[in-house]
Amino acid sequence: MFLEERQTQILTKGKEQRHLEGGKASAAGSVSQRACVFCGSRVVLYPIADALHLVHGPIGCAAYTWDIRGAMSSGPELHRNSFSTDLRERHVVFGGEKQLYNALIELIDKYEPKAAFVYSTCIVGVIGDDVQSVCRQIEKLKGIPVIPVEAEGFQGTKKDGYKIACEAMATLIGTDETKEVSPFSINILGDFNLAGELWILKEYYERMGIQVLASITGDGRVKDIQNAHRAALNVVQCSGSMLHLAKIMKEQYGTPFMKVSYFGIEDMSDALYEVAKFFTSPQPLPTGEGLSPSPVERGLGGEVLMERAQELVKDELTRLLPALEPYKRALQGKKAAIYVGGAFKAISLVKALRLIGVKTVIAGTQTGNSEDYKLLETICDDGCILVDDSNPVELSEFVKQTGADLFIGGVKERPIAYKLGIGFCDHNHERKLALAGYEGMLNFAREVYETVCSPVWRFVK
Ligand code: SF4
Repeated sequence: MFLEERQTQILTKGKEQRHLEGGKASAAGSVSQRACVFCGSRVVLYPIADALHLVHGPIGCAAYTWDIRGAMSSGPELHRNSFSTDLRERHVVFGGEKQLYNALIELIDKYEPKAAFVYSTCIVGVIGDDVQSVCRQIEKLKGIPVIPVEAEGFQGTKKDGYKIACEAMATLIGTDETKEVSPFSINILGDFNLAGELWILKEYYERMGIQVLASITGDGRVKDIQNAHRAALNVVQCSGSMLHLAKIMKEQYGTPFMKVSYFGIEDMSDALYEVAKFFTSPQPLPTGEGLSPSPVERGLGGEVLMERAQELVKDELTRLLPALEPYKRALQGKKAAIYVGGAFKAISLVKALRLIGVKTVIAGTQTGNSEDYKLLETICDDGCILVDDSNPVELSEFVKQTGADLFIGGVKERPIAYKLGIGFCDHNHERKLALAGYEGMLNFAREVYETVCSPVWRFVK
């Protein structure tokens, strides 16, 4: 049932004296749920809504990633298009640079984007088009940043695509200094504004008196990202995709960063407290032209932020905890399987499920690393199966072995759950329901209840 070479990527907590190995290339013969490098880069850059995203390659690559995620925009929606150079056999033989050049001219003239990202797909790497040179020429001609994203699909795993996207994004950061910046400013990295989640978080931060300077991977804008180096702190969710950018910014601009999660009561509250604590502790605040008055000049100390965070959490919990009770009673003793993109989300989900009486019996991710898995293991109960880079056959088998009542995953896991006759909760980027923050926790509990306790499962053998 399981491929021998995948042995180090599967373990049952409490039964084995070893840790799970993450970050390995997918084993041949295992139909991995992971996407390609190009797809990983497209996921990260996609939410920059006023940029042009041009896929340099055959139309299939563009179709595969068309409107790839539910990242919402409060303004322009150029990101939702999937432009492609539509490379054909003649381009493979004679080169596709001319096609790329013409496509960029046409699209920039038509849509007037604030920047353009050009994604190299597998075939571009094979035929050796000089994408960098074409981007440089267009940048000069049109006066906007034109950024090559050299993410040929064959280079590695989806996670390598995240890294390449972070490096492309980093070339944009630090190229503008015209935005007004508060001393209590943060960038949000790794929230993709699915179903408007970023707006929920932004509202929390604003209630505390914190400015969100750039929401880099959700409702993103080129100008905000260009100014992002001036924020006092980078707050990183989905660390698997965005930690690399946070590290680059730390090195280049000295911007400190912290890892958070916005799923579940515990992690959401910790995120607000940790950010408040950062501004409460003595640390250098950004200085320079264009910055707002200092906290002292504004009559504000960082302590105020902590008080506001405490008030916010108290208010939200007063509303939320009683509303969760009926779901908790109905779900007591149910079992869940989790298979998601990154390990931090899996960790938050284990805690959030526990809060509503559900035990996690399978916890896996596509892109976790060995360190992430050590953390995940510590919060899971004995008997929980931990798995890295799984496939449908393994996941189905684990569900049967453990008797899970619920599967939490994405679009590729939904059929597994339904074929096995158990409930399913979409916690990936295609979902239309906000699951972050306090109101997200209530939506999550309601969704889990509705799917697990649906009468439809009585008719499934
Ligand atoms: S693996 Fe290559 S050909 Fe396939 S979608 Fe990714 S970039 Fe395109």
